[in-house]
Amino acid sequence: MKKISILLLILFLASSFVNTKPKTVYIRPLGDVNQEYMDYIKTSVNNFYGYDCVIKSKLNLTTDILAGSRTRYEAGKILKKCNSKENVLLITEKDIAHKKSNDFPEWGVFGLGFRPGKTCVISTYRLKGNVPKAKFLERLKKVALHEIGHNLGLEHCTNDKDCMMTSASGTVKQVDREKIWFCSKCWNQIR
Ligand SMILES: [Zn+2]
Ligand SMILES: [Zn+2]
Repeated sequence: MKKISILLLILFLASSFVNTKPKTVYIRPLGDVNQEYMDYIKTSVNNFYGYDCVIKSKLNLTTDILAGSRTRYEAGKILKKCNSKENVLLITEKDIAHKKSNDFPEWGVFGLGFRPGKTCVISTYRLKGNVPKAKFLERLKKVALHEIGHNLGLEHCTNDKDCMMTSASGTVKQVDREKIWFCSKCWNQIR
């Protein structure tokens, strides 16, 4: 009996070890992306979620993912094309737009992610503005953590304006307002 108990304990410990193995998020540049931005995202995602991050090879920007205006790329097309069974965060320095349906005009976004899902895309383009690099990087971090939040199943938060899951509605003002923080309501959903 004692032997069985010990065996069960070992099996339990082994299974909990497997379950706590951090998941891996693959960061993929879409077109040319500054290595510093990817390294920063890698550290930020690891610090906040505890996930391992691996930077993978570049994907090319191709005409099939252009938005209707053909002046920028369409986030939804990128997600569909790059949808993966692995957790993938795509990053581009080009402008990206979202189009809800044919009845809506396209509008520029910072990022887009499946909810829930494993793939999201972020763009540095609308975050740069006329701000110091540290400010820009902080914005980029918030957008990345927000889109991964969508992948984990989180909707936009209306609970607390300081929460990173609040909809930015295309303005950096809201991104700047947020803390590197999820409100308890959002955390409780993904824990
Ligand atoms: Zn969002
Ligand atoms: Zn929240």
